[in-house]
Formats: sequence, structure tokens, C-alpha cells
Amino acid sequence: MGKQGKERAKARREQRLQEISRLRKLPYSSVERWWSSETVAVVTGANRGIGYEIAHQLAVHGLRVILTARDADRGRAAADGLRGEGLNVEFRQLDVSRPDSVESFAKWIAEKYGGLDIMVNNAGVNFNTGANNSVEFAEEVIATNYFGTKRMIEIFISMMRPTTSGARILNVSSRLGRVNGRRNRVGDMTLREQLLKDDCLSEELIDDMAANFLCQVKEGTWASNEWPQMYTDYSVSKLAVNLYTRLMARRLADRPEGHKIYINCYCPGWVKTAMTGWAGNASAEEGADTGVWIALLPCQQLTTGKFFAERREISF
Ligand code: NDP
Repeated sequence: MGKQGKERAKARREQRLQEISRLRKLPYSSVERWWSSETVAVVTGANRGIGYEIAHQLAVHGLRVILTARDADRGRAAADGLRGEGLNVEFRQLDVSRPDSVESFAKWIAEKYGGLDIMVNNAGVNFNTGANNSVEFAEEVIATNYFGTKRMIEIFISMMRPTTSGARILNVSSRLGRVNGRRNRVGDMTLREQLLKDDCLSEELIDDMAANFLCQVKEGTWASNEWPQMYTDYSVSKLAVNLYTRLMARRLADRPEGHKIYINCYCPGWVKTAMTGWAGNASAEEGADTGVWIALLPCQQLTTGKFFAERREISF
């Protein structure tokens, strides 16, 4: 893209952000508001950054929010702050990369609320900033971003409360994980074609892709194997999240009325948080917006298996 093209893209983006900021101020009508103060929303990794803002905004809309964090002190402090604003927020410790932690959280949710209505899988890690592209922490990145999200979904699917408004799962992902992204995609054409076709998509294919990548990292052969070029381990983890979102949407599609579960993912943009070293061009509040918008979509507009950014559907 030339200099002029970049400027036009920047101007379009700024216009869109202004439009979203206007939309955010519009109150939901009573017809659109399907939720109540009894509606339970769980947000992972919510002690800071985008997760904290998603928890904040959902609570401002009047939901009961379970703010979870792996570090109990940080999580409790974040929840106390929101409760200080008069919001209905409760803290619970949860490390998505530890099966025992997810299981004990699930037990607590079952006993206290009998399930949940909205699950936001936000917890994530990335160890690259700027022009770095190290895969030193690839195992942790895949274990948290992909397997952590997958574990949450596997355990909580049966605990999403039946409702005519539809239970909702939202995965916080990234455009870096697009199958067919212009600049950052899987180079292997055969694999890419398989990943793009719904019929070929399976849990085995996704898990094998992740395992294959990690195996190549261990062997030191990953660099010559056509993985996404930027923040490779992180991009592979988010690619897997996107694929799993599509797969689960298909698996959940046949559920009967009253038991529907809608699952989508979104990219918050390039957000000024600890993860980006406070670089980025959007605030955490702006980054949370599309996530909250999807989680609260009025029933008539519900959709599943889609990828969003800036309140619009984008391609996988
Ligand atoms: P932050 O680093 O600010 O927040 C990440 C959160 O995830 C922290 O609360 C962190 O906890 C938590 N976390 C990490 N590992 C675990 C774990 N095993 N169990 C539970 N919680 C965990 O980053 P962001 O707010 O920017 O990121 C939020 C999400 O948005 C991530 O999924 C990220 O990949 C995604 N994203 C961010 C973008 C950006 O530009 N910032 C762009 C695209 C996507 P702790 O404080 O203990 O480390």
C-alpha cells in the first residue's frame, strides 16, 4: 500500500472509530435489552487491559459479572474497584492454563449460579513486541491462548444456562490469526485450503497444526516452514482460536430453541495495554467495545461462527 493508500485507510479507520464512539453512547432500548441483573457473565483474564474493560462495560450495562484472574490479589483489587462504582462484580480466581483451576471454578459456578449466560475468553499472553519475533515461549502461548480457551469451552458448554435469548461465548482473538490474511498467513497452500473449508475442519486438524508447530519449535525447524511471519507463536495460537470458534459454531448449530449457544470471536484492534507495551492506537475501552457489542447483541441480530472487528464482520 502506497503512502496515499495508507493515509486513506487511516482516515477511514478514524471515521469508523468516531462512528463507534457515537454508537456506544446510544442506550439499548427495552426491546433490545434481553438481559437482567441476574444474567451471569464470566470474563477471563479480567484484572487488567481489555478483559477488565469488557467486565466493566458489561457491569455498567447491568449484568452480574464474574471477574476472573489468575492472580488473586490483582483480581480482587480490580473487582473491588468496580464494586466501588456500585457495579455488580464478583471476583473469582481462575488460571485457564491449569485444568484443576478451571474445574474448581466450574464447580463454584455450578453451585452458586447453576451455570452462566455469557462467557468471554479473553485471557491471553504474548511475548513479542515491536519487530521481535521470538518463539521462546511458544508452548506457554499456545497452552494459554488456544488450549486455555478450548478447555473453558469444553467444560462450560454443558453449563451454559438454557434461555430463549441464547447463551453466548465470545473468544477474544486477533487479525494476526487469519487463515488468509494478506500479510501474515500460513504459507502451506494445502493446509490453508483445509483450514478454510468447513468440511475439512476438525478438532484433530487444529490440534495437530498446533502440535506440529510446537514440535518444529523444539526441533528448531519452524522458521523454514511457512508459518505466519509476524509474532509467529501468537499468530498460530489465535489462528487456532479462530478455527475452533468456527468448528464449535458448527457443532452447536443443531441445538433446539431455548438451548442455543452462539459462539463468535473478535479482534479488539491494536490496543494500548501491557501486552503491546502500551503501544497501539486504541484505548482498552475502545478495544473492549466490539466484544461487549457482540455479547449483548439483541436476539433478532444473533449470529454464530463469525469473526468481528470494529462492530463489523470480517473474514477469517
Ligand atoms: P493484557 O496483558 O493487559 O491482559 C491479559 C490478561 O490475561 C491479564 O489479565 C493476564 O493476567 C491474563 N492471563 C494471562 N494468562 C492467563 C492465564 N493462564 N489464566 C488466566 N488469565 C491469564 O493484554 P490485553 O488486555 O491486551 O489482552 C487481552 C486479550 O486481547 C488477549 O487474548 C489478547 O491476545 C487479545 N488481543 C490484544 C490485542 C492488543 O493490541 N492489546 C490485539 C489483539 C488481541 P496477568 O495480569 O496475571 O498476567
